[in-house]
Amino acid sequence: MARTHLLGRDKVVYTMDPKAQPALRISPGDTVVLETRDALDNVIARADQLPVDIDFSHVLPATGPIYIEGAEPGDTLEILFQEITPAAKGLSVIIPNFGFLAAEFPNPYTKIIPLREGFGDFAPGIRIPLRPFPGVVGVAPAGEPVANIPPGDYGGNLDNKDIVVGTTLLLPVFVPGALLAIGDCHAAQGDGEVCGTAIECDATITMQINLHKAEHIPRPRLETPTAYITIAYGKTLEEATKQALLDMIDYLQTEKGLSREDAYILCSLAVDLRITQLVDVLPAVRAVLPKAIFM
Ligand code: CA
Ligand code: CA
Repeated sequence: MARTHLLGRDKVVYTMDPKAQPALRISPGDTVVLETRDALDNVIARADQLPVDIDFSHVLPATGPIYIEGAEPGDTLEILFQEITPAAKGLSVIIPNFGFLAAEFPNPYTKIIPLREGFGDFAPGIRIPLRPFPGVVGVAPAGEPVANIPPGDYGGNLDNKDIVVGTTLLLPVFVPGALLAIGDCHAAQGDGEVCGTAIECDATITMQINLHKAEHIPRPRLETPTAYITIAYGKTLEEATKQALLDMIDYLQTEKGLSREDAYILCSLAVDLRITQLVDVLPAVRAVLPKAIFM
C-alpha cells in the first residue's frame, strides 16, 4: 500500500553524503510532499540585503536525505514530479566573483521578484512565466561526501529547467537506500543561468518515487511528456556536449535498437543540444530527443 509522507524544510543537508542519517524512510511507490529552502538558505529577504560574505558551506540546502527501502547500488531511482508550488516571493542576486560574466559584474546586487498568478513580476511591463523546478536533486555518491554546488553522476546541482511537473527524473543509485535530497527551487530560469542565480525561492514539491531494480544508467536522465533527455557536465562546455551526445547515442542503441551509425545520424537530424547551465563549476549540456518522431 503506497503511502504519502511529509518532510519539512527543517531537515536539510548541504552535501550529498553516503554516511548521512536519513530524515525519512519510504518504500518504492510512495509519494513525498517536501518543503525546500531557497538557494541562499533564506538569509536574504529584502532588496537592501546584498549577497556579500556568503558562507559557501551553507548554500544550496537540500531537504532530506530520504532513504528508499530496497534501493541498492546498481539500481535506478525514478522520481515523477507531480506538483511544484513556489512561495509568493523569489529573489535573484549577483554574487561577486560568481556568474558567467563575473569579471564584468563585480558588485553585489539583489532583486526581489514577487510571484503571483503564474508569473514573476520582474519590472513594470516585464513578467516572466513561472516554470518551477528543483535546481538540486541528488543521491549520495559512493565514497566521500560532495558539496551541493557542482552537478555529478549522482545528480546534485543540475539546474535543469526541464525538471518541471510532469517530468520523470532517473538517477543512478550508489549507496544502500539511495539517500535522495532535493532543494534550490527555481521559479523560472533561462538556459545557461548566466548570472549564477535563477528566481530563487522556497517551494513545496510533491513527487512519487519508484525504484527500478538492477537497471543501471551512468548519469541522470529525464523523460518529459514530449522528449527523452540525456544530461551531462564536464570541465568544459565541449566535454559536457560530447558526453550528452554519446549518452543519447547509447540510449538510441539500447532502447530503440538502432545501430551506432544510425543513432549518430539521427542525433544530427532530430536531437537538440542545449546549454543547461554555465555557472555551477562544471558546465552542463542536455541532448533532447523529441518523442514525436517515433510512430
Ligand atoms: Ca539556484
Ligand atoms: Ca542551483
